[in-house]
Amino acid sequence: MHCPFCQNPDTKVIDTRISDDGHSIRRRRVCPKCNKRFTTVETSMLLVTKRSGGVEPFSRDKVITGVRKACQGRPVKEDALKMLGQKVEEDLRSRGLAEVTSDEVGKAILKPLKDLDVVAYLRFASVYQNFSNLEDFQNAIDQLRD
Ligand SMILES: [Zn+2]
Repeated sequence: MHCPFCQNPDTKVIDTRISDDGHSIRRRRVCPKCNKRFTTVETSMLLVTKRSGGVEPFSRDKVITGVRKACQGRPVKEDALKMLGQKVEEDLRSRGLAEVTSDEVGKAILKPLKDLDVVAYLRFASVYQNFSNLEDFQNAIDQLRD
């Protein structure tokens, strides 16, 4: 891979380590031309299978955008949204699978969102789980109270 400092097309790997969770590899590299060192991280591509059958790469930004919509007007800070996005990605990656369904992504979002803001949780759940009447809301609220 190209050196990010001087664009030299050749760099050498001087150290390779597997992350503690076993889901990524870090390589320490050195450029033989400018002698600068840098680190690359290798992870498997996480794919999301949609209900329509389509497949797309997992996007943390997309998760955050969806949750931000549900949080409109709620006292939820941008940092908390970023943390939630990270949690969701870690949760999904910890399963060690190359593909997850959009349903699993939704469930992975609901868990931390419940702790973050219950109103946003209900909004998100109502869309994601297709609430169609008051009873659906009532059931979700009852579950929250338990
Ligand atoms: Zn270089």
